[in-house]
This record gives sequence, structure tokens and C-alpha cells, in this order.
Amino acid sequence: REYKSVALVVGVTGIVGNSLAEILPLADTPGGPWKVYGVARGKRPSWNEDSPVEYIQCDISDRNQTQSKLSLLTDVTHIFYVTWGSRETESENCKINGLMFLNVLEAVIPNAHNLRHICLQTGSKHYVGPFQFFREIEPHDPPFTEDLPRLELPNFYHTLEDILFQEVAKKEGLTWSVHRPDLIFGFSPHSLMNVMRTLCVYAAICKHEGAPMLFPGVKELWNCYAVASDADLIAEHEIWACVDPNAKNEAFNIHNGDVFKWKQLWNVLGEQFGLEEYGFAETGERISLAETMKDKGAVWEEIVKENQLLPTKLEEVGAWWFVDLIFGGEVSIPSMNKSKEHGFLGFRNSKKSFISWIERMKADKVVP
Ligand code: NAD
Repeated sequence: REYKSVALVVGVTGIVGNSLAEILPLADTPGGPWKVYGVARGKRPSWNEDSPVEYIQCDISDRNQTQSKLSLLTDVTHIFYVTWGSRETESENCKINGLMFLNVLEAVIPNAHNLRHICLQTGSKHYVGPFQFFREIEPHDPPFTEDLPRLELPNFYHTLEDILFQEVAKKEGLTWSVHRPDLIFGFSPHSLMNVMRTLCVYAAICKHEGAPMLFPGVKELWNCYAVASDADLIAEHEIWACVDPNAKNEAFNIHNGDVFKWKQLWNVLGEQFGLEEYGFAETGERISLAETMKDKGAVWEEIVKENQLLPTKLEEVGAWWFVDLIFGGEVSIPSMNKSKEHGFLGFRNSKKSFISWIERMKADKVVP
């Protein structure tokens, strides 16, 4: 088969990597027909086996392994970098993520002679600072626009951008784009930060135990406008940047383009899991999911067995730390104007997006 473009999706089993793996091979995807290589650290998971992706198991934090496996991919035309490695402190994050990205670029750029474009995915932490300093510093005044100056804090997103600019400059005609999603709604059972999967697992445990599903966030978040980024929409945005000359060498925010309130989505979650009682805790006390869920491993095992779910451990599917962190305050909204002005008019209805990913997780037996 003749391919027009060849994608290298680094982080193919992640929350956006999975959407790219599903969308790129479709017959009507812009820039296609696409051949797709997908890189992830672990073995190919069962839920990814059917996608027409050439799967490459490679630990990109290992320079030699990355060189030996990725330097062979001489036909790659586009890189989608949708991965990250998590460490305790942000200076460690800068180090490990910088190393991972550089390993990939040093293996691919000199060998892939037709390489044309690199998409780098970062996120809204570009504007509010890294998790380590979350809500400790005064961010810029929202809505955030892409031209705001960097905050003066260590941030692995800055490290990644700087590596991108430095490496792209070494090859004539090679272009780049940076994509900054907000909180992502998507499918992956392997993602480190999957809010939807985590909330679905919480809902399933509440249902199983007949417990009320209390909102694990602060009142300000319950009531304020919030935004989310649908994983398929982010994939469309990244593919758009690969094919549209207006999108070259620019950074763009990407979210669904509407607003919602968590108190509304909480009702949706309750309904989708058939719960009788759900809402904001009457006592007004903040609920920590890490605390509430710490002894529920055996309950989850029972739920998995009873419903013949994909075998998972509670600590793999419940990113409690992540929800506890992001549900700790109001949302600052990034602007979508720049994307629209440059020609990207994609959007999602966040409520429908929320429901569709719940349905997907049920269909793939991640949750009952
Ligand atoms: P993810 O955790 O969903 O997926 C990571 C992928 O990378 C997986 O396929 C994993 O196997 C792979 N991977 C991890 N370490 C690897 C290694 N050493 N070698 C090879 N593969 C490896 O990723 P994500 O959440 O899409 O994160 C990508 C970027 O998006 C990050 O910068 C993140 O901060 C940002 N972001 C994420 C969210 C969110 O809600 N998840 C929101 C905004 C921004």
C-alpha cells in the first residue's frame, strides 16, 4: 500500500496516543493514508491489539534502546510526542522528560530523511505552573493566551519546548507545533492521569458498596465553570497542525470550546452508574480520594471478577492523587481564539464527550 504520511506516535497506549492510533489509520483522516508506528514502554495491551499500528515496545528513557529501535524508522514523516515520565520534584521531571524527548529526536531526526513535522503535547500547566507548585503561585490572569510569558518556575514543558526548538533548527524545512490541552477526557487504561477512568472506578466502588458518591473536590470547583479536552479532539488538533500550513511553528491551546460545571457532570456520572445517592458532602468537608480508596483494593478485585472486567489493580486504574490535586480549586480557562483564528474549528460538547468515554470504558470492560 502507498502511504502519503508516516506517523510515529510516542506514547501510543496513553490517553491521546490511543486516540491518535484509532484516528490516524482511518480512510478520511487529513494527510492520509497514514502508516502508523506506535511506541510505548510496556507490552502491547489487549485493548490495542486490533489497531493497525506497528507496535514498538521501547523505553525511551534508555538512550541505547531508543537509538537501536527508533533509528530504524527511516520513513517517518511526522512525530506525535504524547508521553511523559513522572517524578517527585519538578526539577527531576525536567531532567527525565528532557532526556526522553531528546533520546527520541536524536534517534529519529538524523535518520528519517522525509521527516516534516513534530507535534509536542504539553498542557495548561504551562500557565499555572507544575503540580509541585500548584496553587502556591499567582498565575497569569485567565483566559490564558498562548503569547503569555513563561512563569519563572521550573516546568518540564519549558524544557521540552526548548529541546524542540533546538533540534528542529538543525534540519531545514522541519516544522513544529505545541499543543496545550486542559484536563483530558479519554479512554486509556494505561494513562497516568485519566480523570474519567478514575471517576468511573470511584462510581463503581460506591455502587458496589451502596455508598453515596460524594464529590471529592472543593465547593468552588463544584460551582464554577470548567473546561475539558476530549482526547479525540486533541488528536484531530494535532493532525490538523501536521497538514495545515497556518499551524506551523506555533503553540496552541486545545479544549472542547464549551464550559460545564462539575455539579452537572456529577449527576451524569451518578446516572450512568445507576447510583441512588450522589452529590456534595453535606458536612462541607473535603473528601480525599486517596484516603477514601486506600483500602479498597480487595473490593475492586471483587468487582473485576464479578463483572469479568479487564484484569487491573486498583492502583493502576484509580489515579486518586490526580483527582485530589486537580479538584482542589477553581478552574482557570484557556482561550481557544488562536486555534480558531488559525483555522481549527473543531469542538466537542463536554457533556456528550463525558458520556461517550464512560460508554467506551464500559464497552471495553475497564469498568462495569
Ligand atoms: P499518558 O500517561 O496517558 O500516556 C503516556 C504514554 O507514554 C503511555 O503509552 C506510556 O506507555 C508511554 N510511556 C511512558 N513512559 C515511557 C517510556 N519511558 N518509554 C516509552 N513510553 C513511555 O500521557 P498523557 O496524559 O497524554 O501525557 C502527555 C502530555 O500531556 C504530558 O505532558 C501531560 O502533562 C499532558 N497533559 C495530560 C493531561 C491529562 O489529563 N492526562 C492533561 C493536560 C496535559
